[in-house]
Amino acid sequence: MSGEFDLIKRYFSRPVPEGYIGPGDDCAVFQVRDSHVIATSIDTLVEGVHFFSDTNPYYLGRKALAVNLSDLAAMGAIPLGCLLSLSLPLVNEEWLQEFANGFYSLSDAYKCPLLGGDTTSGDTVSISVTVFGQAKHSALMKRSAAKVGDYIWLTGNLGAPHIALQAMLGNIIIRDNVLQTIRQCLENPNPPVIFASQLGVLANAAIDISDGLIQDIEHITAASNCGAVINYNSLPVHPSIAGLDSHLMQEALLSGGDVYQLCFTANPKRSKLIVKLAEMHGVSVSHIGHITDGHNVVVNDSKNIVIRTSKKGFDHFQ
Ligand code: ADP
Ligand code: MG
Repeated sequence: MSGEFDLIKRYFSRPVPEGYIGPGDDCAVFQVRDSHVIATSIDTLVEGVHFFSDTNPYYLGRKALAVNLSDLAAMGAIPLGCLLSLSLPLVNEEWLQEFANGFYSLSDAYKCPLLGGDTTSGDTVSISVTVFGQAKHSALMKRSAAKVGDYIWLTGNLGAPHIALQAMLGNIIIRDNVLQTIRQCLENPNPPVIFASQLGVLANAAIDISDGLIQDIEHITAASNCGAVINYNSLPVHPSIAGLDSHLMQEALLSGGDVYQLCFTANPKRSKLIVKLAEMHGVSVSHIGHITDGHNVVVNDSKNIVIRTSKKGFDHFQ
């Protein structure tokens, strides 16, 4: 069976005019003035696929926008506004009020006003958000812009959303108080939107971690025609999951999705300025590896032994 990326490549990746960025990056991009571009992205959350039916509607409203703001962040664009398309099997006004309150809490926080949308009936709840953002053309962080020798950086930490999801699916058992803490990371992600909008002058390539660290870094290495080495021991782990089974941990860190933090590459000479910018915005950054002239993404332990997992990140059709 074809994976989601094969389907997109086969049917929806015809060439776009000069000056545009079409399918294949975190946002589509088109020029509006000589020096500026509009970046736009759409992401859909489907009941039963992306969220449990009993998910807190306030958090769901926030997440519907957050996953899109995360794509703007991955291009280095600052939000301008958004559209919301909702399909609902029935009208539950209490649910809608909470959903709207959550959505607006994030749209207010990042000055990304809701400008329009569409509301229809449907078999399950389906939420599509389109965001628009703006960036200087020269500060865009394209997936294709990584350079050999660049350091690879990551904001925030890894693992908690995957462990929370596995526990909620009943695939693993963890302590109840741990689950209460880490399900926040799954249900209420917090992409570093403002930090990212100022990062483009320092960084080269970027991607947001939505499907899993290795798979998402592979999007950068494929687009930039390079390889990467990741130092497993430098990966930032969510404090509440430290000490879990090491195999489960490896899967969570390397292949776990729903992170919505930013992975970016930059010339090592930019390191001090990157750390300073992150401090200014209260964002944690970790140097997790570097870009190589190879073709693979290799994960090493502290003794330089290769440990990359075979399990890939999430694909809707695999
Ligand atoms: P992300 O995880 O960053 O939101 P996706 O993995 O959903 O991105 O999509 C990968 C790329 O393919 C993006 O550039 C997206 O815009 C593009 N894409 C996905 N589905 C379609 C489609 N049906 N038509 C055109 N482009 C698409
Ligand atoms: Mg993305």
